[in-house]
Amino acid sequence: MKAEEILERIRCSEMVLVGLGEEFDIDGRTRESRLYRQGYDRLQEAGYHWLIPAWNEYCTALSGNDTVTPAMEKLLDLIASKNYFLVSVSTNSKIACSVEKKDRLVMPCGGVLKKQCGKGCGAEPVPVSDDDRERIKAAFDELAQGRVPDKDRFLLDKCAECGSKMIFNNVYAPNYNEKGYLDNWHKYTKWLQATLNKDLLILELGVDMRFPTVVRWPFEKVSVYNNKAFLCRVNEKIYQLPQEISTKGCGIPQNAIAWLRQL
Ligand SMILES: [Zn+2]
Repeated sequence: MKAEEILERIRCSEMVLVGLGEEFDIDGRTRESRLYRQGYDRLQEAGYHWLIPAWNEYCTALSGNDTVTPAMEKLLDLIASKNYFLVSVSTNSKIACSVEKKDRLVMPCGGVLKKQCGKGCGAEPVPVSDDDRERIKAAFDELAQGRVPDKDRFLLDKCAECGSKMIFNNVYAPNYNEKGYLDNWHKYTKWLQATLNKDLLILELGVDMRFPTVVRWPFEKVSVYNNKAFLCRVNEKIYQLPQEISTKGCGIPQNAIAWLRQL
């Protein structure tokens, strides 16, 4: 599908539902770098999975290759006058930083902007502080030099409820606390109900199969039930649409960030 057709569809739609996926976590070149792979493997081996989103952002900052911010600016510019909602399974904090209408974005996989109790006592997640960020950065500086810092170096200050150390509030945390995103999730489900029988454009951008129940499958379902919906799926590898909605959308075999930037 040509860029002009997509732009026309955006213009004609009443509502726009956007899904952002793993292609927004980190750009391909940084992901393939030796520095990234080495740190990633060491964090995985040590069982520090909740640090991967922060490692993605640390390596992106080092490479000076933040492609997400300009892509988000482009996207938000295109849909600015529309009634939209964004759902992101990417954990990249650049997404949250780009969106001014904070009640139009939900990030069910969390990220690095909030921290939660490491023991999972149930206390509400709270914002990460500048001190936390410095602490993590210092530990990552060591990791980048090939040393794996003690687990303690990655733990944040104490949980106000139970006194255990805190960790980033994301889906890779051992006891992921979903309170970090639930308020906006409720807003999203309400918004979604209002899309029925409306001219709805669905932009599914760079969403892989890691969490298909959050974006991919529900978006397909929405396009089945809404006769006026059109699903545009942009993905480098898995861009195909299922048979039942093949006439109600298009699959574009391209990296979503590259696609957005050339629109
Ligand atoms: Zn606690």
